[in-house]
Amino acid sequence: MSQSTLLKKLRSLFSGRMVVRVRHVRRKSMPTGTLGAYKKHKETAREFVHGKLKEQNAHYALSFNKVAIRNQRTRWGSCSKKGNLNFHYRIIELPDSLADYVIVHELCHLAEFNHSKKFWALVAQTVPDWRARRKALRRYALHRKRSGLGKLLPTNTMV
Ligand SMILES: [Zn+2]
Repeated sequence: MSQSTLLKKLRSLFSGRMVVRVRHVRRKSMPTGTLGAYKKHKETAREFVHGKLKEQNAHYALSFNKVAIRNQRTRWGSCSKKGNLNFHYRIIELPDSLADYVIVHELCHLAEFNHSKKFWALVAQTVPDWRARRKALRRYALHRKRSGLGKLLPTNTMV
């Protein structure tokens, strides 16, 4: 089975669920590069994410619990039932409009813990072109060859 066929199959299989894992990727605890560079990058991402959350949540006024910045392999962001938000440390490398989409997407899960029409309507309040952004985001990968702080590899990733 080709990779794209496999991905299509996986998507249809998991559509409607909270998280779609594209494929299993062997875990690496750290990207290549120094630990110091990673930590610095992570801190920059933390500030960036907090700024974006504040900006977008001015509209939604939702309450959340902890915000974590992680190296979480296949996801740009996630939201737990406890209201914890997680974002990938490389979110800062995305085009701004896509980073906004990831932030808004996870924020809206605080109100709608699903991908229902209601959820997307909520997203559309601040990101009316969410469909295009969601599609564009798939071109940015988070896994396989970890190239440290190098370029993101184009492949399939979903939030
Ligand atoms: Zn989602």
